[in-house]
Amino acid sequence: MSAPTDLTATQQIAAVRAGEMTSAELVDAHLARCEDDRWNSYLALNADAARARAREIDAMADKPPLAGVPIAVKDALVTRDLVTTSGSRMLEGFRPLYTATCVARLEEAGAIVVGKTNMDEFAMGSSTENSAYGPTLNPWDTGRVPGGSSGGSASAVAARQAPWSLGSDTGGSIRQPAALCGIVGMKPTYGAVSRYGLIAFASSLDQVGPFARTVADAALLLSYIEGRDPMDSTCVGLREPVCVPTATDLSGVRIGVVEELMGEGTDDGVRAAVREALDRAEHLGATLVPVELPNSRHGLSTYYILAPAECSANLARFDGIRYGHSSADTDNLTEHYERTRAEGFGAEVKRRIMLGTFALASGYYDAYYGQAQRVRTRIAEDFDRAFESVDLIASPTSPSVAFPLASRTDDPMHMYLSDTCTIPISLAGLPSVSIPCGLDAGMPVGLQLSGPAFSENRLFDAAHALEAAIGFDTAPPALEAAA
Ligand code: GLN
Repeated sequence: MSAPTDLTATQQIAAVRAGEMTSAELVDAHLARCEDDRWNSYLALNADAARARAREIDAMADKPPLAGVPIAVKDALVTRDLVTTSGSRMLEGFRPLYTATCVARLEEAGAIVVGKTNMDEFAMGSSTENSAYGPTLNPWDTGRVPGGSSGGSASAVAARQAPWSLGSDTGGSIRQPAALCGIVGMKPTYGAVSRYGLIAFASSLDQVGPFARTVADAALLLSYIEGRDPMDSTCVGLREPVCVPTATDLSGVRIGVVEELMGEGTDDGVRAAVREALDRAEHLGATLVPVELPNSRHGLSTYYILAPAECSANLARFDGIRYGHSSADTDNLTEHYERTRAEGFGAEVKRRIMLGTFALASGYYDAYYGQAQRVRTRIAEDFDRAFESVDLIASPTSPSVAFPLASRTDDPMHMYLSDTCTIPISLAGLPSVSIPCGLDAGMPVGLQLSGPAFSENRLFDAAHALEAAIGFDTAPPALEAAA
């Protein structure tokens, strides 16, 4: 039998149910890999509580649906009594008083949180190098970044430190690291999953979603976290229950191909792998249709007004008084705020707060924020129009594979470009999944499939059929070599 850490979450659940494995064995096997954390995937482990909960579940005659299978959780989600920092010094040592709805739902269903994963500070970044606790390394090549901001959640799954994990995606932070680490990552329709307990970055964009090694695991995970929540009035849940996908072909599926995202700015190797995946889709019965999203070229500039504007408001709560870091020895309140925030926030977070505060200043509000909102509407309208003639839209997830550590840290514009393919979909609030579709110079390439709002089931079915046809091996060769 395979090692417990090689099994998908679905296989682990089945093994526990069949009495072939215990939850304690699963939790121990994963914790052993978490404790030997060569990739810096985790910021905190929940070892004792996880082991205790596994014993409890093993003692139950009637197992909960998720049967005591481990899960890793992005440190942007608050977990009661378990240190939660959002990758920031500002929240060093912070122990929340409650647990995020999505995590609580998983725990109720019998999943066990093994630890909190590393991330760019307050989810701002594309490489996990903005973490105050050091970067996460890519399990395919430890000289490269895992993507971001949910880099730790992606590397934990790629490195078999958890069969699945939760991330959050504002402009691409689930899909891009999934692509760079060779796994599946999914951003649900805006409003499908409760944001209660997700430390806010840009509230009109933030969504929690799954990372896994198979599309079926990602769908299963989403089925437990989606749904209305009285604690988040923007959360409406999905319109139909998530079905674990079973499709084996794509007959009758019309896939729109965004040619703008397949041209200049996209690496040749990425383009070749994506084209090959699209050929396979055609063999499975899909029809490929070129689509135009003319306003998507404004996606990045729109996002970098709106997201910083929202972040500047959301991060005002870190004032050194209510919680988190508090500067010592200040003389008055203003100085206390200033020193606390100067000491607690990193450079990228400060850059965003300044940008956002500027864009919202009364004299500039309409020229920047108002205009960006109008362009956001245009971008969403382009998608509506495209979905009149296609069922799904395909593109690369990221214009390049994982880049070397420190290669973009001095060039924020270059870093921001990592999200050109994911941001327009976020601005439109649509569901989108990245699946691994091949390699470029030995590093994984992601294919992004997106659909109309609430089309999760159709999206998962198509991704599942394509995943089987591609047959990508999610085991990083570097991991085998190191073992
Ligand atoms: N990389 C983008 C940013 O830095 C997206 C981040 C995210 O989705 N949280 O804003």
